[in-house]
Amino acid sequence: MQTLAYAAFDANSPLKEHTIERRELGVKDIQLEIMYSGVCHSDIHQVKNEWGATTYPIVPGHEIVGKVVAIGSEVTNYKLGDIAGVGCFVDSCRHCNPCKEGEENFCEGAVTWTYNSIPAGASMPTYGGYSKSMVVDELYALHIDPKMDLSRVAPLLCAGITTYSPLRHWNVGKGTKLAVLGLGGLGHMAVKFGVSFGADVTVLSSSENKRADAMALGAHHFVNYKNEAEANACINSFDLILDTVSAEHDLNFFMNMLKRDSKMVLVGLPSVPTEFSHRSVIGRRRSLSGSSIGGTKETQEMLDYCAEHQIYSDVEMITLPEINTAYERMLNNDVKYRFVIDLMK
Ligand code: NAP
Ligand code: ZN
Ligand code: ZN
Repeated sequence: MQTLAYAAFDANSPLKEHTIERRELGVKDIQLEIMYSGVCHSDIHQVKNEWGATTYPIVPGHEIVGKVVAIGSEVTNYKLGDIAGVGCFVDSCRHCNPCKEGEENFCEGAVTWTYNSIPAGASMPTYGGYSKSMVVDELYALHIDPKMDLSRVAPLLCAGITTYSPLRHWNVGKGTKLAVLGLGGLGHMAVKFGVSFGADVTVLSSSENKRADAMALGAHHFVNYKNEAEANACINSFDLILDTVSAEHDLNFFMNMLKRDSKMVLVGLPSVPTEFSHRSVIGRRRSLSGSSIGGTKETQEMLDYCAEHQIYSDVEMITLPEINTAYERMLNNDVKYRFVIDLMK
């Protein structure tokens, strides 16, 4: 089956219209007419081959919401007309312990990513959500309450779960002094979850113009860390910092803001290695950790939590041809706070 998509053909040229082939519907597959696709900074890293593993042409997009328009003969979890989501992966080994526990994101075999991944035995790479239609195994799709505001749901499939998961893992809640480093797509979701879980939330940002937004998102404090006095006032004050920054930055500077026995949790994935001083953990018995998206089980839990608590991403809607401008704006730190492509336009 052929479908319209937007693809990058090399690391430096703009994305352009392209026709891609989707696999035929298997017995366990559902076909989605894609309605919305969020734009994650990971899309940009991979389009520009900043992680060094890109196969061209690449069709990004792993924050996908669509309507089920066809189902395979053995599908049991979806019916025609349902709303389903697809996040960052579409298959995994299915046998290892993480897979059995619903943490396929940590699969010890092979994860098939939603795009830029070549499944075992296949000749074509996977293609993501910057397209009109896709086919996915029902086990790797997520149920979405049709009453939700669907365009604002799409970013939950990556930005949402990537921040929800570590905050849950580390029991962030009442009494936690949480700092969210970087107020972008991931960061603004981390603020919303942190506030919803009852934490005292500080936004650590390099952008003075986000101060009012941070407070409107529910944060209790905003720190422009470029301002020396404001940054110094944070030394030794947080229980957990969730680092969502997409570009090179001085980790040790922020480690110093952590209390004794506290944690730095990395989710941002800059393309360059970070310099790290052992002193920044030894002195106050701090820990350095990281987290990668979330599995199907927790992603469904997060979507249900968002439906119950009416938690959505703040989005700016675009059409497919506007994707290159959206990338430029993201690289200039000019998005509030997630671009979402409307694929019905
Ligand atoms: P984004 O919307 O572009 O936000 C990134 C934020 O980082 C910006 O809003 C900005 O916050 C800060 N920032 C950007 N450039 C900076 C610079 N040069 N110096 C200091 N701060 C800078 O990106 P995103 O979609 O949230 O993604 C963030 C990162 O997470 C990316 O690296 C992405 O690949 C990664 N990611 C990881 C996972 C995972 O599973 N671990 C999942 C999804 C994404 P301020 O203006 O507030 O300073
Ligand atoms: Zn992502
Ligand atoms: Zn596995």
